[in-house]
Amino acid sequence: MNIILLGAPGAGKGTQASKIAEKYNLLHVSTGDIFRANIKGGTEIGKLAKSYIDAGKLVPDEVTCAIVKDRLTWADAQNGYMLDGFPRNLFQAEELEKFAKIDLCLNIDVDEALLMDRICGRRVCKCGESYHVSTLNGATKCRKCGGELYQREDDNPRTVKARLETYNTQTAPLINYYKAQGKLATVTSGEGSPDEVFGQIIKILG
Ligand code: ADP
Ligand code: ZN
Repeated sequence: MNIILLGAPGAGKGTQASKIAEKYNLLHVSTGDIFRANIKGGTEIGKLAKSYIDAGKLVPDEVTCAIVKDRLTWADAQNGYMLDGFPRNLFQAEELEKFAKIDLCLNIDVDEALLMDRICGRRVCKCGESYHVSTLNGATKCRKCGGELYQREDDNPRTVKARLETYNTQTAPLINYYKAQGKLATVTSGEGSPDEVFGQIIKILG
């Protein structure tokens, strides 16, 4: 099973992706994570991506598509995967069809008014876990691995505003794109707790 996870920044794609990956044994491919690993490693891709990410814009399609295309040829992708953060515009969606067969697009729908607070209150760990300050009670370490929590550089109000605009103009049209293909499934109560949202996803995936 090959799945696309669609949703605005802060909709909870990453959180749900970890849960889905565990239960259904699917590879989690996050373009955002790949870019951040490249930035940390100081690669050419990382240097290029950083300026776009800091501005809340999309990294150029040629670069992004090439990364995903290559990643899906690895052995660990052959039993099925979940794309988190890709495609993010129509061009990427059309490119994807040339090298992948997608079974389902899961759209996590969340009231836009909640997103700013969700993202700006987010604290992440290098192991992939993420938390919201409102549930941390002042804790600064990851509950899963003990790692130090930190805030992503692009999780600031100014960049988030640009990311939401990028989402609304470029990514949201993909909802109708996959609906027209009969592949769309919508998680309607994305405002719920991670477990509530995951419960809905299990119902959809079976
Ligand atoms: P979020 O979904 O919370 O915005 P991500 O980690 O998915 O976070 O993405 C962070 C940033 O990485 C995006 O704002 C964008 O700059 C870049 N990025 C991620 N995926 C793509 C993509 N498919 N195409 C272009 N840029 C991307
Ligand atoms: Zn951790």
